[in-house]
Amino acid sequence: MTKLIAAFVFFGLTPLNVSAHERTHVHGLAEVSIAAEAGSRTAMVTFEASGDSILGTERKAKSAQEKAAEKRNLERLEKNLPAFVIFDPSLACLWQTKELKVDTHGKHADVEGTFEIVCQTPLEQGSVRVQLASAFPSLVGIKVQALIGPRQRSATVDAKNSVATIKMGDDK
Ligand SMILES: [Zn+2]
Repeated sequence: MTKLIAAFVFFGLTPLNVSAHERTHVHGLAEVSIAAEAGSRTAMVTFEASGDSILGTERKAKSAQEKAAEKRNLERLEKNLPAFVIFDPSLACLWQTKELKVDTHGKHADVEGTFEIVCQTPLEQGSVRVQLASAFPSLVGIKVQALIGPRQRSATVDAKNSVATIKMGDDK
């Protein structure tokens, strides 16, 4: 567990994610971080996106109607995330939502999620593919970081490069 915590502290120091309240907030962009210990069948995944890309708005939901719309959009994200952050089917991974919320700050809002991925096979035996999500057309870019045991890899998907595959094990 110590290593996993260290991984998140490390991510916390990268320029992409300065701190919970000073992070880069870029409309239309999401950041995905995947962390697992060497040999592990489980990983922690954090997902952060500008509110506009997932909710279509960054205004704080106030009315019952706005709150219902926000809830629907978060549920849509929860349902669709495994279809655009795609763990190798041979790993047989299941997603469990630990937390999924909207953090409103001033005129802006972020969608923040933490998920646990539980697989049948160690993650290093497969790859993870990330692509833009047809369910969220306003989401135009995704930055992905994977810290699997000693390996750190990253990739970006955007309009030009709509799919990225990150190998979680060693290069053969
Ligand atoms: Zn904003």
